[in-house]
Amino acid sequence: MENWKDTKKGSCCLFGDYSGHRILDFDEMNEQLNQLVHFKEQEAIGMTTFQYPIRHFTYGTGPYHVILTAGTHASELITNCFLIHFMKELDQHMFLDPKQFTLHFIPILNPEGTIILTSAIRTVIPRKITPFWEELLCIQYYTNSRLEDNYVIEKEDKDNKLQMWMFRYADSNCIPKKHKQLRESVKEIIETEKLPKGAMIAWSSNGVGIDLNANVPNPRYIKAMRQKIPFYHELRLNQISMTSKGPIGCPFRSNQFQFEPENKAIIRLYKDLIKKEKVLGSFIYHACGNLIYYLDEIDEKVNKENSIQNTKYNLQIAKKYQEATGYRILKDHKETTVDYMLKKILPGTILVELGNIRSTPLSQFIDSIDLVYSHIMNDNKKALIETIEMMKKLYENKG
Ligand SMILES: [Zn+2]
Repeated sequence: MENWKDTKKGSCCLFGDYSGHRILDFDEMNEQLNQLVHFKEQEAIGMTTFQYPIRHFTYGTGPYHVILTAGTHASELITNCFLIHFMKELDQHMFLDPKQFTLHFIPILNPEGTIILTSAIRTVIPRKITPFWEELLCIQYYTNSRLEDNYVIEKEDKDNKLQMWMFRYADSNCIPKKHKQLRESVKEIIETEKLPKGAMIAWSSNGVGIDLNANVPNPRYIKAMRQKIPFYHELRLNQISMTSKGPIGCPFRSNQFQFEPENKAIIRLYKDLIKKEKVLGSFIYHACGNLIYYLDEIDEKVNKENSIQNTKYNLQIAKKYQEATGYRILKDHKETTVDYMLKKILPGTILVELGNIRSTPLSQFIDSIDLVYSHIMNDNKKALIETIEMMKKLYENKG
């Protein structure tokens, strides 16, 4: 029972790892990134609508390139925290040979969303809280969301959700004043769309209320989009429409489709790198379900010469990643996402959904239930190292 810690006042008596804080807000993330020694910060891959740089760090200078991204959906905060944790570990232990690899990290793909979301979190979970209380509040959020999910199923309830109600004082004013334009944008969205109180804690979108992964020309609910009628999730957040600007699901700003600057930037990074370098693949992190999605090009009728080899390669990567995580492997059938586009652009891309616990952004930080947090951090670290090494071997054998 090595995980039992002494119960100093204000520390903990729960099962799990409480050696430090687990939740990082936007500023803390950047502080940690600034301290990396064996990483090089490259020019930002692009700027967001409100002029936040999308930071790009590389590790190593080797011939084999890999791209890793986190935080497409801001509310999937565990992805940012995992990737930054991995970067710190890599910085310290250098367990991948920097002469062999060049790893490209985009740890905060959606800076505006991350500012909005983490500002909301800080209204209830301040920086200086003890790890024990951080855990308890995450559990409170989780248990509230469990209860609410049951109400949706059993009572067809569409009220505001208890877990959001915990954050009802999180409005645009909780965003630090230095983010003036972003604050105004969020304020306007909340007012115009009449978002329920606490909606900021569910913020997946960017600062203009567009969901980066849904930001494709033909989203799943294109009909509702065109007719400007509300469209709701079946289960979670069934009180927030996905066809208007807000925390979740809205694919574009007006009737006319346009890529958001964050997506233009990431697609450009993929395409430029593929043109110039040996890119082994990429890892895209989301946070829902302990799953690994790979692209079956044959199944999806992707019209490429190498579709058989690509599919085989994608599956080998998914299987290797599964060894260390135990995550379930699924073929991709979500062609209405930007992630799907990226998988088509770059063979060797998998989408990893961290955590088999419901309700982002807080439940994935819980450690006293099934060591959810520790498993996410440790298993995925191991999986990444082993999978990247294997990708190099496969590439060498191929060619
Ligand atoms: Zn997601």
